[in-house]
Amino acid sequence: MNFDLTVEQQRWRDLAREYAQEEIRPRATQLDKEQAFPYDIVARMTDLGLMGMTVPEEYGGSGGDFVTYNLALEEISRADTSVGITMEAHISLGCSPIVNFGTPRQKEHFLGEVVQGGRKLWAFGLTEENAGTDAGGTRTTAELRDGEWVINGAKKWITNAGTDITAGVTAIARTGTRENGKPELTAIIIPQETPGFTRGPGYEKLGWRASDQRPLYFEDCRVPEENLLGERGRGFRQFLQTLDGGRVAVGALSVGLAQACFDEAVARAKEREQFGSRIAEFQAIQFKLADMAMEIELARNIVLKAAWLKDQGRPFSREASMAKVFASETAKRAADQAVQIWGGEGFMETSAVARYWRQVKINEIGEGTSEINRQIIARSLLTEEGAFEAKQKMVAQ
Ligand SMILES: Cc1cc2nc3c(=O)[nH]c(=O)nc-3n(C[C@H](O)[C@H](O)[C@H](O)COP(=O)(O)OP(=O)(O)OC[C@H]3O[C@@H](n4cnc5c(N)ncnc54)[C@H](O)[C@@H]3O)c2cc1C
Repeated sequence: MNFDLTVEQQRWRDLAREYAQEEIRPRATQLDKEQAFPYDIVARMTDLGLMGMTVPEEYGGSGGDFVTYNLALEEISRADTSVGITMEAHISLGCSPIVNFGTPRQKEHFLGEVVQGGRKLWAFGLTEENAGTDAGGTRTTAELRDGEWVINGAKKWITNAGTDITAGVTAIARTGTRENGKPELTAIIIPQETPGFTRGPGYEKLGWRASDQRPLYFEDCRVPEENLLGERGRGFRQFLQTLDGGRVAVGALSVGLAQACFDEAVARAKEREQFGSRIAEFQAIQFKLADMAMEIELARNIVLKAAWLKDQGRPFSREASMAKVFASETAKRAADQAVQIWGGEGFMETSAVARYWRQVKINEIGEGTSEINRQIIARSLLTEEGAFEAKQKMVAQ
């Protein structure tokens, strides 16, 4: 075994760390307070190659492997998970489906627009009012009429969907009913300025306040037939595959947040004095720090193992779910302990740990809840078909 990163991987991690610590971290509190989308940061990250990390170089991306992307994402999220989710949703949910399932023309056109100096964002719309965990409950429809898809319906909570630099969304729509009575789901590319496609206002949120989430509305929204992504009726399989990658990345985002909690906890423990000594000298505090460090190390390892499996072209669905659950729950415990170590100061919005404590909850919900990921893990262990088929069965139930 070899746990060493390549020179290239270290270079990207260091670049992301340096930029994040110098330019993002000092602004995180203010961005959160103002609920301001950081356009200048996203533009700079695009210029640095961070927003197109897994997009092939021929389409203007950085052509990085999945491990490298997750290393960089951890560093960005360590500085601010709002910026981290903007990067993650753009790469894992926005660009990846086009990279994986798009035609050469779609890749050139849509990816070129977002990464190749375009400094734009792409979104992925799956969730609806009655289709959350049960994404098979999708009600949005797309009907093929006179060479165009006519889309009707609504999506909710779609990340990066309504910024001034959003170029479009890949939406999952119902295009018919299968022989077994289940919906036929299809992915369709919808550029932002398409008539009949509108967005609602952003939400008031507990965390990720400097990131953008919107409801989307489609009213007789028409796009050309060639905006079909991949094959008709393959939307279900496509989003399962997309979410596998996304789960690893949300794992990396969670590790970054857990590391930030640890950084703050150590700094405070070394500085704060009670009973005539620094609180870091009390064993109760030391054990908390030891537990945090242990769990962060393990979370980082499963995230990188899942990413490595993906890079090798090997099955990684089970490990993706393990990474998502373990890392997000590690981050939750780390945030809790960081506030505890900070004491009353940690309850004040003037402290970074208070923000971390608010931010951390969503990691257990977005891109598959802990409950559903535990089911994916369990069923992959209990069935012979393996993780992918087990998951398909479960979601189709
Ligand atoms: C800030 C934010 C950003 C988001 N960004 C996007 C995005 O960019 N694109 C997108 O498509 N979606 C996005 N989402 C949606 C997100 O993926 C969903 O919230 C998530 O999949 C869970 O769906 P739900 O919230 O409807 O929960 P529900 O499905 O209503 O689940 C509620 C509870 O029931 C549990 N539950 C449900 N079914 C089962 C079961 N079979 N067994 C056991 N427990 C079960 C869940 O685990 C959960 O605890 C975002 C959400 C948020 C809040």
